[in-house]
Amino acid sequence: MTSTDNSTTHAGTAPIDREALRARYRAERDKRLRADGNAQYLEPTGRFAHCLEDPYVRAVARPPRREEVAVAFIGGGFAGLVSGARLTQAGVDDVHIIEGGGDVGGTWYWNRYPGAMCDTAAMVYLPLLEETGHMPSQKYVLAGEIFAHARRIATQFGLYDRALFSTAVTGLAWDEPSSRWIIRTDRGDEIRARFVAMGTGPLHRPKLPGIPGIETFAGHSFHTSRWDYAYTGGDPDGAAMEKLADKRVGIIGTGATAVQCIPPLARAARQLFVFQRTPSSIDVRNNHAIDPEWFKTLAPGWQQQWLMNFATLQTGGFADEDLVKDGWTEIAQRVRDRVVAEVSATGTLDLATIQRAFEDSDDEKMTEIRARVDAIVTDRVAAAALKPWYRQLCKRPCFHDEYLQAYNEPGVHLVDTDGKGVERIDATGVWVGGVHYALDCLIFASGFEVGTSYSRRAGFETVGRGGRSLSEHWTDGMRSLHGIHVHGFPNLFIVGLSQGANLISNITQNLTEAGTTIASVIAHALAAGADQVEVTAAAEQAWVELLESGTQGFLGNPDCTPGYYNNEGKPIGRRERLNASGHPQGPVAYFHHIDGWRRSGAYAGLEFRSRGAVREAARDEAK
Ligand code: NDP
Repeated sequence: MTSTDNSTTHAGTAPIDREALRARYRAERDKRLRADGNAQYLEPTGRFAHCLEDPYVRAVARPPRREEVAVAFIGGGFAGLVSGARLTQAGVDDVHIIEGGGDVGGTWYWNRYPGAMCDTAAMVYLPLLEETGHMPSQKYVLAGEIFAHARRIATQFGLYDRALFSTAVTGLAWDEPSSRWIIRTDRGDEIRARFVAMGTGPLHRPKLPGIPGIETFAGHSFHTSRWDYAYTGGDPDGAAMEKLADKRVGIIGTGATAVQCIPPLARAARQLFVFQRTPSSIDVRNNHAIDPEWFKTLAPGWQQQWLMNFATLQTGGFADEDLVKDGWTEIAQRVRDRVVAEVSATGTLDLATIQRAFEDSDDEKMTEIRARVDAIVTDRVAAAALKPWYRQLCKRPCFHDEYLQAYNEPGVHLVDTDGKGVERIDATGVWVGGVHYALDCLIFASGFEVGTSYSRRAGFETVGRGGRSLSEHWTDGMRSLHGIHVHGFPNLFIVGLSQGANLISNITQNLTEAGTTIASVIAHALAAGADQVEVTAAAEQAWVELLESGTQGFLGNPDCTPGYYNNEGKPIGRRERLNASGHPQGPVAYFHHIDGWRRSGAYAGLEFRSRGAVREAARDEAK
């Protein structure tokens, strides 16, 4: 049947009543809408300042540095590592990573919670696999293996030699007369850099739920990104958390992080109370070991082929084969199959057909996900509460084969708040629906700041030419060429997702492409003897206009249940759209565009200026 009516079917189940489903989705969303949106969250200060501290490496005292470097990279996560690697490959090896943590790894340095892993397949998520010769142990690898891979890249490309760890940047300012960036840090350093790149991370600043009384809790508490193994026992490699055996543990949040750490917590704690506001969608994971014999058969160039295959299939394109074959590509496969069937049946393809294919596939997938809850969770009340009532991409899809099963453990209690969130917290525990849950330990799986300003999340302001700050330049939303170059900020490069490919399902591909671009531009500037490289105002404006001509963006539908994918349900204006925009034809179009842009060698939109030209421009400006 074609779904021109109000229902759709899929193999072996009853028809889906789309109108009833939409009404349920709207009702669940309305329960969760709140006037304060993003402002509901608290910064971890005062009693919670430890949520920003480094529990793994104690900073060693050292004298402040006064030095001049070719390239400084702010951030030692995969953004800094892949950029450093590409720069080294391009013959620029004076690269200095400056990182607040005690080692490289970024999110994989901080997130060591039990069960942490990446649910993007390692064959595409782990960057530079061919360059490093590393074979992922499994289709989806644990955080420890990812952290080790980050260290492998740093070692292989000599990035440790010049790195500054446990060093947070406090200010970044452009000095026009010397054409240098001046970087100040919390260790008293003053580093002058010819080029600066920053990969400060999209989701790295922990946030806490603004629950009344949160500061009064007298038991032990921590955020998942600063897991306190000294309290829980165990370790990030999976040793059991034996110190929780006599503890009543509470966890607030059921997002992607909680989904991964709840199974080990369920095994370790005497009692585990999971405080849920909105359930995540939990699809199958089906992890398996990678066969070394098969891995050896991969031909050189395989990783780029896999990356483009994944990006293509995950974003609605066509390919002969699905190399990664996972939950991400499966979502897109369903839509594609429907569109193809519709076109062969009717001979036409219009927007309405595509939209219907999206909706039908989504309804079908979410119906399966809810049925999976019923098939696994034995307690009917818990099963009902664990069913997600929204479209799949309203929230981060999760994939796990032990999470739902954890609710069958006798010591695990789901405390569903029916969309309202935890009522209040007092010295001894948590209140929901007038019931008090006494706890020894309270874990915040409440996520990270999204939607706050770039400078606030980075922890410092960037001041460019003429004393203009990046925050001022971006008051009405981000402006850039390719998400990398910003007018008025010469010799500065941003590494992230926004205004580039914006491929959410595989973050590192965005970073590797940006790193390749930056290395190419810097190597060209050095070879050409240019002191400054800067995007022109016209090229930046043209790119912003191109971004605004499309609908590609990270921010989802305002009809979705609130979350960081849709600005917490608050209106999405031009500023939010720009901050989260991507190439109008999608990630693959961006990857092709940027590859051609680099290869042409013309670097269209950038101006490379020699010292003489810089002096002349300064004189003209002064007239
Ligand atoms: P999230 O922001 O996704 O989840 C925060 C959780 O806290 C939500 O369940 C939220 O509920 C809940 N919450 C907030 N306030 C309250 C309250 N007052 N009462 C009760 N519950 C509350 O953070 P995560 O750390 O889980 O994930 C962040 C991101 O990190 C992911 O989206 C993903 O991008 C990334 N990640 C990726 C992984 C991977 O495998 N690659 C693994 C883990 C994380 P509600 O939904 O109602 O807002």
